[in-house]
Amino acid sequence: MNILVINAGSSSLKYQLLNPDSGVLLAKGLCERIGIDGKFTYKPQAEGKEVLKAVDVAMPTHSEAIQAVLNALVDPKNGVVGSMKEIDAVGHRVVHGGEAFAGSVLITDEVMKALEDCIPLAPLHNPANITGINACTAVMGKEVPQVAVFDTAFHQTMPPKAYMYALPHAYYEKDKVRRYGFHGTSHKYVSTRAAAMLGKKPEEVKLISCHLGNGSSVAAVDGGKSVDTSMGFTPLAGVPMGTRSGDVDAGILQYLMNKYGMDIDQMLDVLNKKSGVEGLSGVSSDFRDLENAAEEGNELAILARDKFAYEVKKYVGAYAAAMGGVDAIIFTAGVGENDGGIRTAICQGLEFMGVKMDPATAGIRGEEAVLSAPDSSVKVLLIPTNEELMIAMDTAAIASGK
Ligand code: AMP
Repeated sequence: MNILVINAGSSSLKYQLLNPDSGVLLAKGLCERIGIDGKFTYKPQAEGKEVLKAVDVAMPTHSEAIQAVLNALVDPKNGVVGSMKEIDAVGHRVVHGGEAFAGSVLITDEVMKALEDCIPLAPLHNPANITGINACTAVMGKEVPQVAVFDTAFHQTMPPKAYMYALPHAYYEKDKVRRYGFHGTSHKYVSTRAAAMLGKKPEEVKLISCHLGNGSSVAAVDGGKSVDTSMGFTPLAGVPMGTRSGDVDAGILQYLMNKYGMDIDQMLDVLNKKSGVEGLSGVSSDFRDLENAAEEGNELAILARDKFAYEVKKYVGAYAAAMGGVDAIIFTAGVGENDGGIRTAICQGLEFMGVKMDPATAGIRGEEAVLSAPDSSVKVLLIPTNEELMIAMDTAAIASGK
């Protein structure tokens, strides 16, 4: 079975064609500047096939972008499948499923209506995801099954004490203000892999999943279910990120807005785009740049890395307490998969709860590995995330009626 995985943004569209049974990736790429001047990138994963990099293709709307993707995939010379018939289903990454979706779902007219209802919760992302689905329907027809896979769905198992804010209850009842959590597809994928690496069933293990990338979140996964996570009503909450502040005292907003005459949009722009490790260090949102600056003695770069590791460590401790123990801590995403220094800093001082790192593993990058010492009672695992494969697996299961 071949699944086309689509991640549609407002003017871009990422795609992968993969086989979820074998895990084999056939092709991937990107449509950029949709509605502007259209740039198309195509990377077939077979030898002898031509790679296209940001070539000009007219894409006034997402429909032409999808058509360009399909043309490339079935192209007689450089394509990776013989015809459209070999694309069995399409899986869409959808950012917000609200409380309506606790799992992936076959897209129907009713589901489209429910997705529209979720737009106020993710006004920047969900409209683009809906446009991507409509474009696929327009180009591929209704016969090809399409599945929505939500960033929020995995966290719908959180208990009320984890997802409720201590705000007047009416804001939840009337306005659905609650913690939703994000990166669910990634947390689900790595926690499933972690159980396999431990030789256990997901139901048998307590895990803390640290997805540390440009956006970062930590999740407590007990018995295969998310029971708490650091992002909240929006992806701004939790640990500091590349440019996002993570948790701050809401009183700061009033203080700064009054002092500098900012409106709430300007204030949120600061919190989303000018804060995090970039804002704190004044260097960069990229942890490689921070590490270089730190090595050269830049004190704010050192502070930003320390602050990041410290806040992630606090979530690890909190979630171990919330679950009454932990079997393994997982590191994934760009920083978690590559930055041994940050992983070491997070785990340093957690010996009291049974975490003992193997110093020889600090240099390991981008491959599944056990990072803890053999006598560590809590295992520390490096698991590269693969959200596209998770989306393809869910899509295949739903499209084939499993
Ligand atoms: P992601 O959002 O998962 O794609 O992660 C992107 C981030 O990972 C980048 O902004 C970098 O901060 C970080 N990153 C990528 N490669 C490395 C590396 N070799 N060492 C440290 N950080 C890295």
